[in-house]
Amino acid sequence: ATPTAIMAAIGNLSKKGILVKDGESLEELAKVNDLILDKTGTLTCGEPEVSEIISCNDKYSKKEIIHILASLENKSEHPLAKSIVKYYKNHENKTLKEVNDFEIIPGTGVKGKIRNDELIAGNRKILNKTYETELDDETTAVYLCKNNQLIGAVLLSDFLRKNAVDVILNLKAMNVTPILMSGDNKNTTRNIAAKAGIDNYKYDCLPEDKSNYIKELQLNDKKVAMIGDGLNDAPSLKKANVGISMGSIGSDISIEASNITLIHDNIRDLPHLFKLSRKTLKTIN
Ligand code: ADP
Ligand code: MG
Repeated sequence: ATPTAIMAAIGNLSKKGILVKDGESLEELAKVNDLILDKTGTLTCGEPEVSEIISCNDKYSKKEIIHILASLENKSEHPLAKSIVKYYKNHENKTLKEVNDFEIIPGTGVKGKIRNDELIAGNRKILNKTYETELDDETTAVYLCKNNQLIGAVLLSDFLRKNAVDVILNLKAMNVTPILMSGDNKNTTRNIAAKAGIDNYKYDCLPEDKSNYIKELQLNDKKVAMIGDGLNDAPSLKKANVGISMGSIGSDISIEASNITLIHDNIRDLPHLFKLSRKTLKTIN
């Protein structure tokens, strides 16, 4: 390997807002077979819009549901949380409620206490089995439970990034297999995969499901790259041969766990990155 060629490539990439921490990861990238993509914030714009607020309990109005939910989500950095808080601030003017004992439930949601009430917000995993069958899965839903009772939900729609189809086509042309792995439900994940032109997808993934799957691919002699933005993508960014994070929407932990950071937060930079890594490796051999 000539260090000069690698340094030149790293310099070229940094001018485009692609920060490569170490030359070794650039060499690894040239040999990658599979690229695992996170959904929210990576393949989608990551700014989902609230499309509906639902109350499931006569005691709570829609206004109260969104007030409680926004108060809880105000402590989370997840794109869904940010959208809910933003929606609340644009539509309501009451101050947010005080939340204590806040905790993140990885790949699932958040919980905390408002006064003496236990609140949990998140995907279907927070619901007990009785609700599960009644609810429709087409959009991303954030459910809200108070003292283990479902009291409401908010529906959000997220949009595929403008360049996603192009990026996926380019990667496939380089024989890189894209695989979507999402913590979201089956229908939402399948819809986004179909729109992006991705044939392989996995849904309802916990952070360890993502990293276990990467391990499995590696045991089958695959070199794997992973791109993600969230706190919960950190284990898989570390496990992958090459971890790629998003510079400003990405959580600090995901940036730290990665080898390469896309400053402009945009997957449109991936084809150039992959191409340049291969070109560089050829000049090396
Ligand atoms: P993805 O980025 O693929 O959606 P994540 O691992 O970031 O996956 O999250 C998995 C799922 O957990 C989300 O799709 C969402 O349903 C739920 N979730 C995570 N954080 C929150 C949160 N703060 N509020 C509500 N739901 C959340
Ligand atoms: Mg994410």
